[in-house]
Amino acid sequence: MQETNDPKLTSWMPVPQGSDFPIQNLPFGIFSTAGTSPRAGVAIGDHILDLSFLSESGYFDQLGLSQRLFDQPVLNEFIGLGRKRAGEVRRRISELLHSDNPELRDSHGMDALVAMSEANMHMPVSVGDYTDFYSSIEHATNIGRMIRDPQNALLPNWKHLPVGYHGRASSIVVSGTEVRRPNGQAKNPDEQVPRFGPSKRLDFELEMAFITSTKTTLGSSISTSNAKDHIFGFVLFNDWSARDLQTWEYQPLGPFLAKNFASSISPWIVTLDALEPFRCDGPVQDVKVLPYLEYSGSRNYDIQLQVGIAPEGGTEDVVCNSNFKYMYWNIAQQLAHHTVNGCNINIGDIYASGTISGPTPDSYGSMFELAWKGTKPVQMSDGTERKWIEDGDTVIMRGWSEKNGVRIGFGEVSGKVLPAH
Ligand code: MN
Repeated sequence: MQETNDPKLTSWMPVPQGSDFPIQNLPFGIFSTAGTSPRAGVAIGDHILDLSFLSESGYFDQLGLSQRLFDQPVLNEFIGLGRKRAGEVRRRISELLHSDNPELRDSHGMDALVAMSEANMHMPVSVGDYTDFYSSIEHATNIGRMIRDPQNALLPNWKHLPVGYHGRASSIVVSGTEVRRPNGQAKNPDEQVPRFGPSKRLDFELEMAFITSTKTTLGSSISTSNAKDHIFGFVLFNDWSARDLQTWEYQPLGPFLAKNFASSISPWIVTLDALEPFRCDGPVQDVKVLPYLEYSGSRNYDIQLQVGIAPEGGTEDVVCNSNFKYMYWNIAQQLAHHTVNGCNINIGDIYASGTISGPTPDSYGSMFELAWKGTKPVQMSDGTERKWIEDGDTVIMRGWSEKNGVRIGFGEVSGKVLPAH
């Protein structure tokens, strides 16, 4: 076990009971305040440790980092240090926050910290490329049952490779950003011609995404065994989808305008190092995979996931409880498959999991499945029902791992839906 994960560690900085951000977590993000420009920070309890301030004050001198590393509006350069060097920074932060260490506590103390309530969070990375997988077997099966053949829900390729497509990086936004209902073309089977207008079937997709930390050469590949050395950490990911636009447009090249109007991410990147104690086995892969997709060890993660919908001015209803461990294809297999043809990757690229549905109806990760194509509306506590997401609704996703009294959380990704233009 890494020393930073020790459940016995405590910080001199108070961490409220049930906080997502104890000293064992230390996720990285970009924040600003009324008086400071966007810069790197680490979450601790309900505060943010200002890494730019720590760097200027000499606390990282022994690590030989570049002077401006944390005084930047994105984390790409820091993440690009690689997992080992970034891990050293995280260990140093753990040391500085440790209960028994007076070094920071007694000299600068609260000068190095900002209350989360006084900070704005920003996109943590500049995203060059974004890929979306389709790796939950329950989700793929549910979609296949609803839109194709219930007897042959999975397409023939599904258990042989992690299906994915290239998404749009420019419209990835940070939690709290409002999302405009998209306009577009849709056509029901009983209509002769398509109509144009606001999507009538706006949906969320409960996903997680990993962020890569290396720049590889075109023509090279990453194996399942060293995939972890190319991954910095995870965020929560809401892959907003317009199902009516998708149904009409997706053949034969896959999702396009139904997906590229927005995807929302949580602001804190939780490192693979912090998640190490929560590695677990994934579902049994009952079709033998090709050698480049074989892997060893536990490559999945036990991360509880939740989705809530808060109507305009109303209280939130939790509509889904799922878990990342249901993923059939793990991140090592996803990255190995993505690069087996020589596709290069870059620092700050985002790789989303695909909708993460569990085996039971209350664990389905989209309205499409929860309301089963509109046939089983979800009852809300204010007396209304939902088949799809309505204008004014805020969709909130949360994620956390918990073991031995330690909670490693992601905070949340939320987004309010505005009426179409
Ligand atoms: Mn998706």
